Amino acid sequence: MKSSRRSFLITSIGVASTLALSRQAFADAPKAAESDPTSQALGYKLDATKVDKAKFAKYAAGQDCSNCTFYQGKATDAFAPCPMFAGKQVAGKGWCSAYNKKA
Ligand code: SF4
Repeated sequence: MKSSRRSFLITSIGVASTLALSRQAFADAPKAAESDPTSQALGYKLDATKVDKAKFAKYAAGQDCSNCTFYQGKATDAFAPCPMFAGKQVAGKGWCSAYNKKA
């Protein structure tokens, strides 16, 4: 109980500061295209269900940017910046091989 409360607080602080930071850059950041070199290298797809599962065996259904640690928006945002893409916006329903499940 104690530990989950602590991690909830830590997560809340993290989300609040991420939101404060991303608000300014948010509207102007370009969207990452699947054809970008970074996208190609990381296997980024705008639609997580289109991930090449043969190539990226780590992909599991249900994983997408909106529940990845690196997604700098709310889980409900359609697009938000991702540091893996130098701050370009990625799709909430997207995925790349740097995916890391949000705790
Ligand atoms: Fe999406 Fe996470 Fe990959 Fe960024 S690191 S593109 S948020 S899966």
